Amino acid sequence: MKTDYLIVGAGFSGSVCARVLADAGKTVHLIDKRPHIGGNAFDQRDAQGVLIHPYGPHIFHTNAKKVFEFLSRFTTWRFYEHRVLAQVGEQLLPIPINRTTINQLYGLSLTEDEVQGYLETVREPRDPLRTSEDVVLNSVGPDLCDKFFRGYTRKQWGLDLSQLSAGVAARIPTRSNDDDRYFGDSFQFMPADGYTRMFERLLDHPAITVRTGVDFTEVRPQFEGSHLIYTGPIDAYFDHCYGPLPYRSLRFDHQHLPDTAQFQPVGTVNYPNDHDYTRITEFKHLTGETHTGTSIVREYPQAEGDPYYPVPRPENEALYKRYAELAETATGVTFVGRLAQYRYYNMDQIVAAALKTAQDLLDAHAA
Ligand code: FAD
Ligand code: UDP
Repeated sequence: MKTDYLIVGAGFSGSVCARVLADAGKTVHLIDKRPHIGGNAFDQRDAQGVLIHPYGPHIFHTNAKKVFEFLSRFTTWRFYEHRVLAQVGEQLLPIPINRTTINQLYGLSLTEDEVQGYLETVREPRDPLRTSEDVVLNSVGPDLCDKFFRGYTRKQWGLDLSQLSAGVAARIPTRSNDDDRYFGDSFQFMPADGYTRMFERLLDHPAITVRTGVDFTEVRPQFEGSHLIYTGPIDAYFDHCYGPLPYRSLRFDHQHLPDTAQFQPVGTVNYPNDHDYTRITEFKHLTGETHTGTSIVREYPQAEGDPYYPVPRPENEALYKRYAELAETATGVTFVGRLAQYRYYNMDQIVAAALKTAQDLLDAHAA
């Protein structure tokens, strides 16, 4: 088949590359083995008509104006700031830990300055911050670590905090003020008509052909001569020649609750110490939709299943580096995406990476 680019994976990385290349006059064939576009950000209506995220809650946030402006060509937005509470004992407390968390947990009424002073007395300074345990103990000390982080992390990753790189826990800030937003970014919005609708517009271009339900291995020989952009797991591309890269998976337990206007007070409630699931998300908070019932999802982490998270720890990063070296020597193929680059990327970081990758390809071709 004659096309300038064959792109494997119709998630953010593959779809953004497709659009940038098509806008520049290239022809693109985009495939995904799943029966839909959007990758893990895909959303759809459940049987009762509530917009849900089958692969877990996706909340868009970014500081990158360029990313926000690019996506704004394909969607309008609904302002939404995500809030999360953690169930600790009988209490529901803000996470990231803030002034309210400390005061409610310990029955105190500290001011912002006093909270800072309190954290100074309980934290265990660590230098360097090598592991996620270092990060948490360095900022909040052992009691808050055990109440909010250790159990959640054990469930989510099947590992202790001390076995994960610092970047995992560093995603969660610690605050001494009353800011109870989960993210601090300057742009926090949800696509007004959902992610799938945004992807449909992104891919609506005469130079882009989309085929879903198609695995790369089936079509590989048909595209000799086309440059390949691969966004799936990098170890699978190389037939796991150095052994499998660990990816963490999840089982999503979706549920619709009829005649329930609201199930929980905020978008997500985390369960650091109770239950086998890590968190429950109620979609109506994220989308702003109204319905007589409500739809929720519980996330059960597991080792086997679809790859959702790279597992950031030194030995995995070393194994990935070996695959990345192979990728550098391979000709006619470019790797981009959360699974292909084995990085714990958020959606906006993927969009930024894909914009750069596509531009680099165009520049290399023009040179
Ligand atoms: P993906 O979306 O995984 O797309 C890759 C695609 O490649 C898949 O559709 C797959 O089917 C396809 N593929 C793989 N192999 C093949 C093959 N051999 N042949 C054909 N197709 C193939 N980010 C945020 O910014 N905010 C959030 O709130 C957020 N929440 C998240 C919650 C969960 C539970 C998870 C797992 C991730 C979350 N993320 C969030 C991260 C976000 O999902 C990713 O950053 C983003 O989806 C990555 O896009 P991608 O295109 O790299 O990968
Ligand atoms: N985390 C935790 N307790 C929480 C929230 C997060 O221990 O209540 C830790 C945990 O290790 C988790 C990591 O911080 O995997 C990153 O959390 P985030 O909410 O960013 O995870 P994601 O939404 O990507 O699953």
